[in-house]
Amino acid sequence: MQVPLLDLKLQYAPLKAQFLTAIEAVADSQNLVLGPHVEALEKAVQEYTGSPHAIAVSSGTDAQLMLLMALEIGPRDAVITSPYTFFATAGCISRTGARTVFADIDPATYNLSVAALEAALEKTPNVKAIIPVHLYGCCADMEAIQKLAAKYSVPVLEDAAQALGARHALGAAGAIGEAGWYSFYPTKNLGAFGDAGMVTCKDDALASKLRALRNHGMEPRYYHHLVGGNFRMDAIQAAVLNIKLPLLDGWGSGRRERAAYYRRAFAANGLEKTLTLPAEPWRETSIHAAHHIYNQFIVRAPNRDALRAFLQKSGIGSEVYYPLPLHLQECFKSLGYKTGDFPESERASQETLALPIFPELTEAQQAYVVEKIAEFYRS
Ligand SMILES: *Cc1c(COP(=O)(O)O)cnc(C)c1O
Repeated sequence: MQVPLLDLKLQYAPLKAQFLTAIEAVADSQNLVLGPHVEALEKAVQEYTGSPHAIAVSSGTDAQLMLLMALEIGPRDAVITSPYTFFATAGCISRTGARTVFADIDPATYNLSVAALEAALEKTPNVKAIIPVHLYGCCADMEAIQKLAAKYSVPVLEDAAQALGARHALGAAGAIGEAGWYSFYPTKNLGAFGDAGMVTCKDDALASKLRALRNHGMEPRYYHHLVGGNFRMDAIQAAVLNIKLPLLDGWGSGRRERAAYYRRAFAANGLEKTLTLPAEPWRETSIHAAHHIYNQFIVRAPNRDALRAFLQKSGIGSEVYYPLPLHLQECFKSLGYKTGDFPESERASQETLALPIFPELTEAQQAYVVEKIAEFYRS
């Protein structure tokens, strides 16, 4: 049996005719950048997340960069985030000239540790933002983070690239802090036919500034009062995403059901102590909405690299996210961090493995994954 880590063709196939019709309409209109499909998507994401404003952009990375530019974060400023995340989170901070200050993760959720965040806030001057990442689709501890942010008067900007559809008691992931962003990269919960992203925010003036920055700070045409960039979304991406967004909650439930199956099957095979399964620290807020949307299903696995090789030999895809935490990346050498500075992030990099999880994954495939993992630890 073959079990890929992710198979995007299975989601595409039943919707193919709808996608091609929508793409043909965009092609016929030759209205290819921004325009009515993009505006419809902004409105839909705004309603879906409960955010006062949603601004469609070219990628999740550009969403974050543009937001930091809009907040005028730059040299002499510091921004606190996790060292255990996709590179873009810290890369965008660096690109503004601000200093990235890392705070270690909570080993149960892989999200920012509130205690580590407080220690970093206490000792770092000029902190201009806190960036929690809702890693793997699991909401960070937003209640505690928002409290600390209020205490230190620092805005919370949420990296919800992996978490569209996740819901904390305080609101949708990405719509709780001052601002947040989503990625529509094809492997995220809501994937476009290429790169695309979205910024959401609360403040009206910030939203206007973001709209201007998206198009080189141009307002009116050929008059520039700000230096922005080309962060615009293509109409074809919006047309595809408008078809998919109404299906997102169903896919989210599919992911959650598959996570629940893994839990039952690992327990039935006596593996719940060998593997550390994902934590679900907050209660669900409704049937379709939950704090963990399982963009990835991450386990801590003893002898991980050998397990991964064994799974690969058995036709099962898996992945190591992220093998080298950001504080140890060569490009961040000048920040002055060293091995041992963030032990939980370093341990997560060494111990965790992502297993196949997507709404089309069958029970037979999941049973096979569990059976092979059980076989690995028996021998
Ligand atoms: C994917 C991702 C991004 C960047 O999004 P792109 O659309 O690929 O630019 C940022 N942060 C996290 C946590 C991500 O997973």
